[in-house]
Amino acid sequence: MTIFKSAREIEIMKEAGKIVAECHATLKEKIRPGITTKELDVITEDIIKHAGAIPSFKGHQGFPACICTAVNDVICHGIPDSKPLKSGDVITVDIGAKLKGYHADSAWSYEVDKVSPEIEQLMKVAKECLFRGIEIARIGNRIGDIGAVIQSYAESYHYGVVRDFCGHGVGQSLWEDPQIPHYGQPGKGALIKPGLTIAIEPMITNGSWKTKIDTDGWTARTVDGSICIQYEHTIAVTAEETIILTQL
Ligand code: MG
Ligand code: MG
Repeated sequence: MTIFKSAREIEIMKEAGKIVAECHATLKEKIRPGITTKELDVITEDIIKHAGAIPSFKGHQGFPACICTAVNDVICHGIPDSKPLKSGDVITVDIGAKLKGYHADSAWSYEVDKVSPEIEQLMKVAKECLFRGIEIARIGNRIGDIGAVIQSYAESYHYGVVRDFCGHGVGQSLWEDPQIPHYGQPGKGALIKPGLTIAIEPMITNGSWKTKIDTDGWTARTVDGSICIQYEHTIAVTAEETIILTQL
């Protein structure tokens, strides 16, 4: 059941979102060859706790870290470790913060030093997929419209749209109804109404959309070793506008 939020609740989620955005702003400066994902985890946890919030992911269904890190062919839910990042890697960092009982959730992909032109284009298109999804997430449209615009845009570049992981409602729970697939048909699914707070988080690959899980039980990768890029924002739909909550 979808829980629609009041203006007051959306304000709190915006505060939580600002903390997540501050983490991303710091990580953008820190990500470089030689740094480990474990170091990024420590930096992020410090920022979240210093802001008086709680890392949403730590302990969520048993996840062992504050951030999820996804390097190259990892799609999502990678666990930070001690392996240094290399020039030409691409890393997605997914961050959640809970403030005054409400979560905000945002993932962003970063190039380590410099990626190839091919990956640069994948990053550009994946980011456009997110913003096209946000653009159509407004009153009167349907949940299916979000996935439809993302899928048609990504597939026009022959990219893969991951099916096994979806966007979701966000609020007092990190994952709430409704589920937001990043593929689908226009005009299908529930109507978008005021008070809807959701995370849109397309995972776009330069190959197959199919996934496999590592033996750690968490890390999801592309089956064909293709690169996966992801950008995610938590947004709120109001009567007047659709607001991005996870930005400064
Ligand atoms: Mg996330
Ligand atoms: Mg999410």
